[in-house]
Amino acid sequence: MRIDVISLFPEFVAQCAAFGVVGRAGERGLLSMHGWNPRDYAEGNYRRVDERPFGGGPGMVMLIDPLRAAIRAARAADPAPARTIYMSPQGARLDQAKARELAGHERLILLCGRYEGVDERLIRAEVDEELSIGDYVLSGGELAAAVVVDAVARLQDGALGDAESAVQDSFEDGLLDCPHYTRPVEHELGAVPEVLMSGNHARIAQWRRQQSLGRTWQRRPDLLDEAALSKTDRKLLAAYRAELAAGKGAETGSTAASAAGADPESDGSATRGAARGD
Ligand code: SAM
Repeated sequence: MRIDVISLFPEFVAQCAAFGVVGRAGERGLLSMHGWNPRDYAEGNYRRVDERPFGGGPGMVMLIDPLRAAIRAARAADPAPARTIYMSPQGARLDQAKARELAGHERLILLCGRYEGVDERLIRAEVDEELSIGDYVLSGGELAAAVVVDAVARLQDGALGDAESAVQDSFEDGLLDCPHYTRPVEHELGAVPEVLMSGNHARIAQWRRQQSLGRTWQRRPDLLDEAALSKTDRKLLAAYRAELAAGKGAETGSTAASAAGADPESDGSATRGAARGD
């Protein structure tokens, strides 16, 4: 995948993409990043890229021509068609489904604004969509672009060491991820839930499913409204809630399977990603 970033500070986004999973995706040739600075396409001694807004008011607005020239240069640099996205607090909110969709494109051009933003006519003429990373205002689009780069780069085939790890992430199946534990088993902060040490893969899968359901119910009930829960899911969630109400601390999950009335040895539907609607 190729991502071109149009920005007054293209190195900023390139730096963010230089580390960890995204950096390795670059090294493996799964992602190529290219920066284009509109100042390089600005005219005059001062290479102006902004002007005062018509109608008065505070701040500056980014000029059409340097941005348009930079976008066009980026498009011309590769024959593959590119989707042009303006990072903007007024855009549709980025979520995991959107990240997956964008990750499927061969090329993206990410336009980063500064100041009060860019001249509206440029957006109408050159931009395919506007994308926001949340309901707050940043001083520039670079951080937002870096977020998009990270979210789509890790979804490229071969970017993650363990192919499973993206599938199990929060939002992938409409739920939050389950809690994770590693060594040591006993620690002054507490013990690892017994089920995870059992070696019983069906029980572990069921416990994880239950934790995902419970966490989503506690933290993001709006997601549960959208999720298609199976009968087994509903039982697991009811058991989780019952344990919480009884003050047992549902995250230990020691009685999850029996309380749910589900047999972890025989009911494969409790595993993550299993077909729903039973
Ligand atoms: N005046 C604009 C408004 O209120 O909609 C905000 C301009 S902001 C100070 C400067 C630039 O930061 C924007 O052009 C955009 O590229 C970027 N930006 C700010 N917040 C953002 C967000 N939540 N998501 C994506 N980009 C954002």
